Amino acid sequence: MLKLYNTLSRTKEEFKPQADKVTMYSCGPTVYNYAHIGNLRTYVFMDVLRRVLKYDGYKIKGVMNITDVGHLLSDADDGEDKMVKASREQKKSPVEIAAYYTEIFMNDTAALNIGMPEIIAKATEHIDDMIKYVVALQEKGYAYETSDGIYFDIAKFPEYGKLSRLNLDEQIAGARVEVNSEKRHPADFALWKKAEKNHIMQWQSPWGMGYPGWHIECSAMSRKYLGKTLDIHTGGVDHIPVHHENEIAQSEALEGCKTVNYWLHGEFMLVEGGKMSKSLGNTYTIAQLKEKGYPPLAFRYFCLNAHYRKKLNFTFDGMDSALTSLKRLYALMLKHKQGTEKASAEALGKYETEFRNAIDDDLNIPLALGTLWTMLKDEKDSRDVYSLALKFDTVLGLSLDKCEEYADKPEPAEIPDDIKAIADERWEARKNKNWAESDRLRELLKEKGYAVKDAKDGFTVEKL
Ligand code: AMP
Ligand code: ZN
Repeated sequence: MLKLYNTLSRTKEEFKPQADKVTMYSCGPTVYNYAHIGNLRTYVFMDVLRRVLKYDGYKIKGVMNITDVGHLLSDADDGEDKMVKASREQKKSPVEIAAYYTEIFMNDTAALNIGMPEIIAKATEHIDDMIKYVVALQEKGYAYETSDGIYFDIAKFPEYGKLSRLNLDEQIAGARVEVNSEKRHPADFALWKKAEKNHIMQWQSPWGMGYPGWHIECSAMSRKYLGKTLDIHTGGVDHIPVHHENEIAQSEALEGCKTVNYWLHGEFMLVEGGKMSKSLGNTYTIAQLKEKGYPPLAFRYFCLNAHYRKKLNFTFDGMDSALTSLKRLYALMLKHKQGTEKASAEALGKYETEFRNAIDDDLNIPLALGTLWTMLKDEKDSRDVYSLALKFDTVLGLSLDKCEEYADKPEPAEIPDDIKAIADERWEARKNKNWAESDRLRELLKEKGYAVKDAKDGFTVEKL
């Protein structure tokens, strides 16, 4: 029986979807910059949840948004639009910025074996749905117009704060809401903003040119694809007090019923014990980890080692041990793959039950990993063990089937451009039968720590 911790009730609850196909919405990235390892931890969590559901036999209809319309600097509606800021600083159009960072996000998540939700919804392609949503809220009396936008009237939704369990005063203090004398209540939030003439991204609406508030994106897109009430909604813990509280207010006001049955939130990743922030220069990306010699799956392993509801402190020591453990896992897998012993069905059954109990207990992946380790270490080398480990890997996503390739190095090292250039030059020299030059360049590569291997119609370069 799968149990999930529901932020709304603050308890582990038995998971009962409304139908066979689980409906799930995940708050996606704001694509104005690289996703950092903290963001990616949240998507590893989403992925593990999806994998556990599948392991338990469920089908999933998942939706994730891509926030490409801009997003104000603070979760409340003040500050400069992040997309506009990036656009100005990088001298690219918002569309170029969004396309560039979306592609990198997709590549990073693929490298981490994160399976994407079935539907990826770009905010810019759903502006009409958002406008209709705001109009409907206005018609029901939950929204009002000011000179700069359309706001949600919090006083009309007495349950506001039920997810974060903060009262409104605490909310306001936390959200640093701007002073806006036209708002009826300081915590009322923008559903739609009227754009000034020079605002980069703006759309036609019943209230003139403007752009949507951030919270309305998620409510409108989840309603469109998943209907009134969805089974699961995920995001990072930072979304609990403002973003998800506002989603609840909008959607319950509109639908007149509960709109999310299970709210799941991933805890934050810290760096060297503190907050990750650009100004501190500690927001690492997957590319930066790779440059430092850590393959993406070592980062995935690092994330899996901590429960998703615990803060996780990123350190390079921690990454070193994750990498060592991962290499050892591949080596153990290889031993079992080549093993000739027969494993006892009873022992395998015990591991399988243990594994399932762990993942079904609110995704206790550290415990499930423990079962995998015990099995690989304690059992005699056997293909049966290997096969069961591969079944476990449908949840873990560590590419254990690639143990042969990855046993030493979980991923071939990237060859830097200057090394590639020397190797190309050497190949040219060789083609021209300039053996002396070809040998000199081979030596040069060796000094730099690389080896070339020639084949009939080309060559490969490897790190020594
Ligand atoms: P954003 O692109 O800023 O909307 O963030 C994308 C996702 O990353 C959201 O679900 C956030 O809750 C999550 N997130 C942001 N910072 C961290 C962090 N340090 N650790 C874990 N998740 C984070
Ligand atoms: Zn959202």
